[in-house]
Amino acid sequence: MNRRYRKTIIAGNWKMNMTASDTKKYAEEMKKLMTRAKWCETVLCIPSCNLSTAVRAFKDLRISIGAENLYYEEKGAYTGEISAAMLKDLGVKYVIVGHSERRQYFGETDRAVNKKVHAALAASINPIICVGESLEQREAGLTHDWIALQVKSALSGVAADKLRRCVIAYEPIWAIGTGKTATAEQAGEVCSFIRATIRSLYGARVARSVTIQYGGSMNPSNAAELLAQPDVDGGLIGGASLKPEQFVEIVRAANQG
Ligand code: PEP
Repeated sequence: MNRRYRKTIIAGNWKMNMTASDTKKYAEEMKKLMTRAKWCETVLCIPSCNLSTAVRAFKDLRISIGAENLYYEEKGAYTGEISAAMLKDLGVKYVIVGHSERRQYFGETDRAVNKKVHAALAASINPIICVGESLEQREAGLTHDWIALQVKSALSGVAADKLRRCVIAYEPIWAIGTGKTATAEQAGEVCSFIRATIRSLYGARVARSVTIQYGGSMNPSNAAELLAQPDVDGGLIGGASLKPEQFVEIVRAANQG
């Protein structure tokens, strides 16, 4: 983390879990557990059907609410889809874009990711842009090439003054939901590489202002070590964000110091 230049952000990703009633119960639990976050912004990205419930339930806790997806068109005949303006109107502040599960199961391409980034920014929603390599790519020595490609295409056409509002989440696919965490060094190394990629596109001042998270089996026992890496500015947390006591522990680790 480097709090001098950029925000630390701990974000949960509930995926397709938790009903509206579970969401309210979770907020009640958090009221008992959460101490005021000193340094980091806390975000919960949750299923779209429960966003308005969550915006109300977490308001007093100063937890920002994020969506897990959006569609890039403004409006029209796109049955089942949700626009950035609809999310904004609900009080949503962040949206996950390009999660590996969406790329894998729903065919989300780099081009679609880029359009979603533009749509989110145009609606003043902060995109959390996920990038990450597969185990095969890592073993073949392709991690940097792949990550550079994903970062460059996600940010294509994004103006420098918008970069401050973009969060990049480095999520090695082999570490998501597997219990297999990247070592702090592996996470730190790729997050530094992502910052260097942004630097080559936008210059040093912009690059140092961008929050870069690590995601992949982050939990209360490994969070502090991962967050101690200078270019790891937070976490995107799946499994451990479903349990308030674990999520709070990770927020505490980000508030140390
Ligand atoms: C994720 O889905 O973004 C994620 C990091 O999941 P987990 O923490 O469960 O690995």
